[in-house]
Amino acid sequence: MFQNIKELLDFCEEKKIQLVDFKVIDLAGRWHHLTIPMERFNEKTLKNGIGFDGSSYGFLSVEKSDMVFIPDIASAFIDPFAELPTLTMIGDIYLTGEEKLRFEGDPRYIAEKTEKYLLELGIADQNLLGPEFEFYILDHISFKNSPNHTEVFIDSAQAEWSAEKKEEKNLGYKVMHHKGYHADIPYDVSFNLRNKMVRALEDNGVPIKYHHSENGGPGQVEIEVSFGPLKEMADRTMKLKYIVKNMALGNGKTVTFMPKPFFGEAGSGMHVHMQLFKDGKPLFFDKDGYSGLSDIALYAIGGVLKHSPALMAFTNPSTNSYKRLVPGYEAPVSICFATANRSSVVRIPGYATSPEAKRFEFRPSDATSNPYLAYAALMMAAIDGIQNKINPQDEGFGPYDVNIYALSDEEKEKIKGLPNSLEEAAQALEADHDFLLAGGVFSKGLIQDQLRRIRRDEVQVSIVPHPLEYKMYY
Ligand code: GLN
Ligand code: MG
Ligand code: MG
Ligand code: MG
Repeated sequence: MFQNIKELLDFCEEKKIQLVDFKVIDLAGRWHHLTIPMERFNEKTLKNGIGFDGSSYGFLSVEKSDMVFIPDIASAFIDPFAELPTLTMIGDIYLTGEEKLRFEGDPRYIAEKTEKYLLELGIADQNLLGPEFEFYILDHISFKNSPNHTEVFIDSAQAEWSAEKKEEKNLGYKVMHHKGYHADIPYDVSFNLRNKMVRALEDNGVPIKYHHSENGGPGQVEIEVSFGPLKEMADRTMKLKYIVKNMALGNGKTVTFMPKPFFGEAGSGMHVHMQLFKDGKPLFFDKDGYSGLSDIALYAIGGVLKHSPALMAFTNPSTNSYKRLVPGYEAPVSICFATANRSSVVRIPGYATSPEAKRFEFRPSDATSNPYLAYAALMMAAIDGIQNKINPQDEGFGPYDVNIYALSDEEKEKIKGLPNSLEEAAQALEADHDFLLAGGVFSKGLIQDQLRRIRRDEVQVSIVPHPLEYKMYY
């Protein structure tokens, strides 16, 4: 948006900006922020940056935790939720010291390095990613007597509906106010809220493809964004979650991107579509190839499938992620590829037939991931596949154009399954991460930090008695 500070300052004056807010990403993929009055924002802010404690962000691999962030003026936007006119910018993380070295583990830097690596190798000069965001919109109730204590309740209709399903009868003859995939109003109760979300996204630099209700009980919805390049798409992903969550809260609702919030209901995925181009030509199309895919596309798929267990440590980095990846809910369970098959890790959309639209979709990922790291890891696996000509057919990854959930046990055994837990994903990353270190893109320290973080989560959850354990062992 802005090329230099002069343009930015002129804009601030025109818009009467009073405060400048900075967003910095942590390892887990959450924005932290810090705000200064407009009077304190000047050229020095962009030259020297602002110091902060990197260890609180989960970046433990650097010797000293003192870090600096420098705002990226190209990322500036007016915060739609701030009451006073506030300009927001995303910060890039640097080490302290005169040299102003970038921090190797900064997720945004890793995304940048991935795109540079792709270009340097001469594979492609343009990449497009297309994530799909599924999430639940639920009622938010805050207690008047204790303003600091808020609790989230399942939408009352959700609770009733689940109870009915369990008993398999509907004694009250209640009308459900949500009927699943593409449900129309009046059943689609969050239609107006989603319209507002989508307008705010469009107005703030996140172009949207479409939005609709999804099939997980009352409350699940989906927003798909227009395709964009890797780092830009990760910025847009952060912005999308920020806008969607804050817009919901302002309307008495809350949003969760948790992969499996309700047992027995569909989980929420973040499928990612991938495309590469060179000299303006799509690289993934060949009319004679399997499902219209070129060799490059097949190799990229081979790389993604081969490394998928390790990838999960970045694309599915929560304990809850693995509760979604079970049969029966259109979530992937098998390491294979197929056309229009939703139980496979990689799906080739059957309706995308033109050369420009030809692509594949990686289905395991969810929005508990840090988008910069998830997209970068995915692209690095594709690059490895292309560089080493990993043919998914030779590796036994299919194609499997059958319903994998319905195969016999014997047939199913031939197809490798995804990691069943966060610990299994951690072990996979520990054993297989050279493809991420290639070209100096991921740093060893960042991989160690990630392993430490996800293992800590795994331990925390494993030592808490589970509600089901009372039923089984009390
Ligand atoms: N919710 C499913 C998942 O967990 C996807 C459903 C769909 O988009 N068809 O990935
Ligand atoms: Mg979709
Ligand atoms: Mg969907
Ligand atoms: Mg999809």
